[in-house]
Amino acid sequence: MTGSGTKSPLYRRAIVKISGEALSANGVSIDQPTVDRIARDLVAATKTGVEIGVVVGGGNIFRGVEVSARGVSRPVGDTMGMLATVMNCLALEAAIEKAGCEARTLSALAMTAVCETYNRKRAIKNLSKGRVVLLAAGTGNPYFTTDTTAVLRAAELDADVVLKATNVDGVYTADPKKDAKATRYDRISHQEALEKGLRVMDATAFALARENGTPIIVFSIGEVGAIEAVLRGKGRATTVS
Ligand code: UDP
Repeated sequence: MTGSGTKSPLYRRAIVKISGEALSANGVSIDQPTVDRIARDLVAATKTGVEIGVVVGGGNIFRGVEVSARGVSRPVGDTMGMLATVMNCLALEAAIEKAGCEARTLSALAMTAVCETYNRKRAIKNLSKGRVVLLAAGTGNPYFTTDTTAVLRAAELDADVVLKATNVDGVYTADPKKDAKATRYDRISHQEALEKGLRVMDATAFALARENGTPIIVFSIGEVGAIEAVLRGKGRATTVS
């Protein structure tokens, strides 16, 4: 953290994790009005002065585990999942540029006719130019998730925080949709979250965040302006740190 208040940003660089499902609506995998709305939120978030990298999931199109359950090998299914994240990133990249901010998709799997290949220096160079960097194709390896990618890239790219967008506004004592008495944590430690069995991210992603001391802020992507609010230290969210 480098400062406080609304003028100097709380963070210097952030990785926002957006699931594939966040881009879908009304049975459409990539729902354009939804993509446009999230893109506008990301562009608004850049106005805080925080450099923003975005890891996008692919669950709205393919998930490796689901594909392999239908008889395709897991590595092939996972590759299909990673390719799905590239489609989502390209949709978001176009929408961000339409909303008036430069954006670059960097893919962990080389596809030079489509976008640039991810490497750490290239990502940092683009981030420092104020471009929104879309980190596509996950880690580039099967058997991982885009949550793990977000934590990994945060460590590699020296980001101060991971913003995990979900459809609830934080981490609750129990499932708020099932238990009316569930309460939201404002702040909780990695250790406490682990001991209480709270599912913040998948186990691999969470273990990596805990090991590196990466703060994770869980917030709802459904609320317009939520990314900017979280970066300004406002809004409803849970900070795991
Ligand atoms: N995936 C992968 N390696 C990675 C990241 C993702 O193989 O490093 C594959 C995996 O099959 C996964 C799919 O891509 O199911 C989509 O990612 P994820 O499930 O994390 O997307 P989300 O649920 O966030 O939309």
